[in-house]
Amino acid sequence: MVGYVYDPIFTLHGSDEHIENRLRVERINEIASSFPLIRYPVVQASKEELHTIHASHYVDWVERAYEEGYRFILNEDTLLTPKSFEVASFAAGSTKPIIDAFAKGEIKRAFLNIRPPGHHAEYKTGQGFCIFNNIAFMARYAQQRGFEKVMIIDFDVHHGNGTQDIFYSDDSVCFFSTHERNNYPYFTGSEEEIGEGRGKGYNINRPYGDFCSDEELLRLYDDLPEWFDFDIVLVSAGYDLMADETISTAQISFDGLRRLITKILDFAGSKPVAFLLEGGYNLDSLARSAEITLQELCKDEK
Ligand SMILES: [Zn+2]
Repeated sequence: MVGYVYDPIFTLHGSDEHIENRLRVERINEIASSFPLIRYPVVQASKEELHTIHASHYVDWVERAYEEGYRFILNEDTLLTPKSFEVASFAAGSTKPIIDAFAKGEIKRAFLNIRPPGHHAEYKTGQGFCIFNNIAFMARYAQQRGFEKVMIIDFDVHHGNGTQDIFYSDDSVCFFSTHERNNYPYFTGSEEEIGEGRGKGYNINRPYGDFCSDEELLRLYDDLPEWFDFDIVLVSAGYDLMADETISTAQISFDGLRRLITKILDFAGSKPVAFLLEGGYNLDSLARSAEITLQELCKDEK
C-alpha cells in the first residue's frame, strides 16, 4: 500500500491571486481519491523540531511576522498570510507520520500532497514560495528514526537551493538535483557546487538548458549516485518541468514524466521512497502529473 498525506489545513495559506495557491493541493486530492491509499494524519512541527533545519531566529521571526505587519518573506513571491506559520509547520511536521510508517514497515512508498512547498527555503530564510524546507525536515526526522543515509532527488524545474544549503557539508544526505539553468534562483545550481568538507561529493547538480526534452532529462538521471548506500529516498516532486507550464521552457511530456518516475523507483529499489509536492502551477498538467506519479507508486510495489 502507498501512504498519502493531505488535509484542508494546507489550503489556509496564501492567496488565490498567487500561482502557488490552495487549488493545487485540492486538485491533486481529487485525483488521489480514486487510488487505494493509506491516509496519514497531519502533525504540526514544533519550533524546536524546525530548529533541526532552520536558524532559531528565522523560525521565531516567521511565527510573529504577520502580526508585526510583514506580508511576505524577502519579496512578494513568498506571501505571509494570517495562518502561514501554522500551515508551513504542518507541511513540515506531516512528513513525520510517513517516516514512522516506513520505520514500522506499514508502507514502502508515499505521496505527500502538502504546501507551501519547501525546497527553496534555506537555513536562514524562506524564499521562492517556500517557508520551511519540508524535505530537509523529513530527512532529519528519518535519520532520527534510523534511516541514517538519506538520498534526496529533486526534479523540480528550479534548483533546490534550500536543500543544497542545509546539507552542503553533510555526507549523510546526498542531494541530486536536475533543473533549468537560466531560471530561478539563478545564482545556484551549477555542476561545480559539489559540497564542502565532509559533504564534498554529496551534492550533485545537473542543470539543463532551455527547452529540455524528455531524452535530455532522462539522460541526466544516468548520473544518479549508485555508490551512495542510502537507507531511504525522498523526492522533491516539482511538476513545473512539464511542457504545459509557463514558468519554464522545459518540454517534458507525460510519457517522459512516467519514465522519470519509473527510473527513480527503480533506483530506490526495495528502500522506502516518498514524493513531496514542490512546484507545478498549471492545474490540469499538475493533476495529470500527480495521477501518473500515483499510478507508478501503486504499481508493482516492492
Ligand atoms: Zn519550481
